[in-house]
Amino acid sequence: MSAYSLPDLPYGYDALEPYFDARTVELHHAQHHRRYVDQLNAALRSTVMPSSVGEQSIEDLLRNIGKVSDESRNAIRNYGGGHANHSLFWSILSADGGGKPSGSLAAALREEFGSFSAFQDRFSTVANAHMGSGWAWLVLVRNRLLVYSLPNEDSPLTAEEVPLLGLDLWEHAYYLQHQAARADYIEAFWNVVNWKEVGRRFEEAPRS
Ligand code: MN
Repeated sequence: MSAYSLPDLPYGYDALEPYFDARTVELHHAQHHRRYVDQLNAALRSTVMPSSVGEQSIEDLLRNIGKVSDESRNAIRNYGGGHANHSLFWSILSADGGGKPSGSLAAALREEFGSFSAFQDRFSTVANAHMGSGWAWLVLVRNRLLVYSLPNEDSPLTAEEVPLLGLDLWEHAYYLQHQAARADYIEAFWNVVNWKEVGRRFEEAPRS
């Protein structure tokens, strides 16, 4: 069975300065994300899994979580979710980020939320209001855009929903730079969102 591996960041640890500080990004990627990958692989090694599990993408592993044994399900939900969520997170950030989306995603956000800024307000409100560790998400569900938050490392993929944009709300994502001021971190986030990548995810998402 092949193991899952930590993806390289598509930019340097300091690329998202001053919005995301280099030390936080390095700890977040090289320690927190790595630990999820290592724990996922350890869990898969220690349990009897269907032989095909290791050959699935991490996204497919989560979509098929209902098919794995009870003893494996929690580890896949937590560590597999952690691996998938962080892999998505790094990809939707960019030093050239910020601004607004264009094309079909921009039109869909306007249609669902009224305007881009209304969407941003909704997402920020949900992210601020989330209690404890978790993620804020923009997802595609039955061809509609939806904003919600999930606890811990739960992934929208386990509900067969398509994550387009995610914001890590664990304190490890912002505490060094912002301490308890999660709102400042959310504000900084909008300056580094890679809308080109979020738009690509939207356009390529399977439609139900
Ligand atoms: Mn994290």
